[in-house]
Amino acid sequence: MRFLVDLSIVVPIYNEEENIPHLHGRVSEAMAGAGVDYELILVDDGSSDGSFVLLREIAERDPRVKVIRFRRNFGQTAAMAAGFDAARGEVVVPMDGDLQNDPADIPMLLAKIDEGYDVVSGWRKDRQDTFINRRLPSIIANGLISRMTGVHLHDYGCTLKAYRREVLDGVNLYGEMHRFVPALASQVGARVTELPVRHHPRLHGISKYGISRTMRVVLDLMTVKFLLSYSTKPIQLFGKWGIYTILAGVASGSLTLYMKFFEGMSMNRNPLLILTAFLLFGGVQFISLGLLGEVSARTYHESQGKPIYVIREKINLSDG
Ligand code: UDP
Ligand code: MG
Repeated sequence: MRFLVDLSIVVPIYNEEENIPHLHGRVSEAMAGAGVDYELILVDDGSSDGSFVLLREIAERDPRVKVIRFRRNFGQTAAMAAGFDAARGEVVVPMDGDLQNDPADIPMLLAKIDEGYDVVSGWRKDRQDTFINRRLPSIIANGLISRMTGVHLHDYGCTLKAYRREVLDGVNLYGEMHRFVPALASQVGARVTELPVRHHPRLHGISKYGISRTMRVVLDLMTVKFLLSYSTKPIQLFGKWGIYTILAGVASGSLTLYMKFFEGMSMNRNPLLILTAFLLFGGVQFISLGLLGEVSARTYHESQGKPIYVIREKINLSDG
């Protein structure tokens, strides 16, 4: 594949009219002396304010700016996916549209890619968000993701990352999945690293998210776990636990029988009996779950190619 530009910056936009002029200014400033040929892909995720009009104005003035407009609000991940699909750069850098990420950090990320990494993940070491409903859930989610995926980063949720184009080919994004790309990429051999980046309070407007997002992140983590264990197969993961549990049930059952026949213990309301039943049924449940997981993983693989967004129009993009 021949790359048309060095870098594609991808920004999801949902009702960011106050931030858009600053965004364009700050990106242009940051890239001015960087010596890379770049495109800025702004994806309007069904904004209901004046965002699109502003995006169109900017794209008319600056041919490096490309705009994709969705038919409705499909969510941040879908917007990022659309940007990734349209990106023509050798390196792709997603970034938030509210300037919480700092465009001035981009050259630093590119330098890491030049060192030979395929994925450079931003780490908001000094995160400027509220503690209880944003930073605390993130700390818990990051710990969980780190344990479950085996790819150890401090801050999966940071939008600012840099990817070598090839890493994104074949990765299908949905839900809150954009944060799991480093884990999915690493599974197929990508070199992943992280780099502290700056973080600012939102320039204008309010966040589009609350605590409910954490729940969706956790659900997506389950999916990712299935996908990552797809090579080892969910049935093996759960089947192992199922077999252990059933073995424990058999042991507990044998003990029950021994107690009844050799020790003459009464089995009326005997907790051992209940434990045995629990373990045997539990083991069967585990194995069933493994089978279900197997089906989910397969269904996922087969459902690839299903669009997660619908485009209304494109500006400065060839087939727009
Ligand atoms: N965003 C989007 N679609 C949505 C919600 C958010 O494209 O449905 C964009 C939003 O405009 C911003 C980025 O995703 O550029 C991050 O959103 P936000 O700043 O609200 O999230 P937070 O920084 O609080 O995590
Ligand atoms: Mg934000």
